[in-house]
Amino acid sequence: MTPTPPASDLGGPSATPSDRFGDAVRQAVAEGLLSEGQPVAGFLDADGVRDSVTALHEAFAAVPGVRVLHTFAAKAASLVPVLRLLADCGMGCEVASPGELRLAVEAGFAPEKIVLDSPAKTRDELRTGLALGVAVNADSFDELRRIGELRPPGSASGVGLRINPQVGEGSIGAMSTATATSKFGVALRDPGVREQIVRAFAERPWLTRLHAHVGSQGCPLELIAEGIAETYRLAEEINGAVGARQITSLDIGGGLPVNFADHEVRPSFGDYVAALRASVPGLFDGSYDLVTEFGRSLLAKNGFIGARVEYTKDAGGSRIALTHAGAQVATRTVFMPEAWPLRVGAFDAEGHPRSGPPMVQDIAGPCCFAGDVVAHGRELPELREGDYVVLYDTGAYYFSTHWAYNSLPRPAVYGFAGGPGGGVRFVPVRDAQSLDSVAQESGLDHAAALTGLGTGVPRTQ
Ligand SMILES: *Cc1c(COP(=O)(O)O)cnc(C)c1O
Repeated sequence: MTPTPPASDLGGPSATPSDRFGDAVRQAVAEGLLSEGQPVAGFLDADGVRDSVTALHEAFAAVPGVRVLHTFAAKAASLVPVLRLLADCGMGCEVASPGELRLAVEAGFAPEKIVLDSPAKTRDELRTGLALGVAVNADSFDELRRIGELRPPGSASGVGLRINPQVGEGSIGAMSTATATSKFGVALRDPGVREQIVRAFAERPWLTRLHAHVGSQGCPLELIAEGIAETYRLAEEINGAVGARQITSLDIGGGLPVNFADHEVRPSFGDYVAALRASVPGLFDGSYDLVTEFGRSLLAKNGFIGARVEYTKDAGGSRIALTHAGAQVATRTVFMPEAWPLRVGAFDAEGHPRSGPPMVQDIAGPCCFAGDVVAHGRELPELREGDYVVLYDTGAYYFSTHWAYNSLPRPAVYGFAGGPGGGVRFVPVRDAQSLDSVAQESGLDHAAALTGLGTGVPRTQ
């Protein structure tokens, strides 16, 4: 593990958020990574990521005798250098599309450390995964049948079945995977399904894993633990019914919620393990290998978005700061502001924290629709043209998952860490998208395709 920089460099975990990233913001502005020409960028604290992975490993290592493969859910930060950093930290990778599988392979994850999920795998995708030897979790009985047909003899792929323990909903319906009617997995509590699952295992000796992912944001720990307890009980029942320890591993998913209200990591991976030990003690007795698939909880607090204030204006008695961070980088927050509130920091044109009396302001983005506001009625020191706002806790699912609305380019992403002589060192993780690339992905190669179609003669009815 890379040594963590002293608190004075980047701030330790107990530092306030503006302290923790204050040096990085100031230096990003000094180096022009945030500037008039590049008014928005994402930043990822590489040491912070390593620390979060260490916290995850240590939380499970505190329980002796249990073997765990911790995978990272690629969708939470689908950037090759980020995935390679996580591979370097000893993690595996959970992927849910051909694109994510490609990124995981490019990042250097060994096939035995890759898990392929997703509710709509094509036959081709299954063939590719099974040929590579990655673990595959079937999302339905139909998919299990396909895997049975496609699986080459002696395949190295571990195969699991994803169940939906139907333990209910957290506070964000769209983020709740274990409701009665969720699209994910096999609905465990539906009539007759439990028996059907047991039969499916009995008929397939190569089916050796159960998978559940109960989450995510908005789901309390108890709900997650209840879902995993259900999964564990089912595994015991199946192994009892087939009279062998056919199920050798349990993939317990990710889904640990993140505290977006302040800088504290809450709940911690330690809290998660404690909750599981309390409700599913057997899970840790070594009879099952475990797989985890955390995403948000590993990355969110280790990244931020910086964006320039282009203009400010008053409208109907409200002050609005028009910045370059809107729905294109903070899509969920803009569309569901109650469910996904973000903390905002105010910095001046040199990247120093702004001081001054608090003033109620809307922080708006560059997209051309009225709702493109990342923070409503926030009390912050008065923002001015040329200042910067920082959106905290955006290391997962935000800048890595850009939305191409208004043909806004994907922003640059930088990784950073404390430099040897103090200060902050930046490296490019993803270049900002060029306008050539925007034009290219908008069909430039086929520019004349539609005008050249048909006769060109107007139709008479
Ligand atoms: C999204 C997802 C994860 C990661 O969820 P987080 O809330 O980011 O931890 C893990 N497993 C599966 C199957 C997922 O779809």
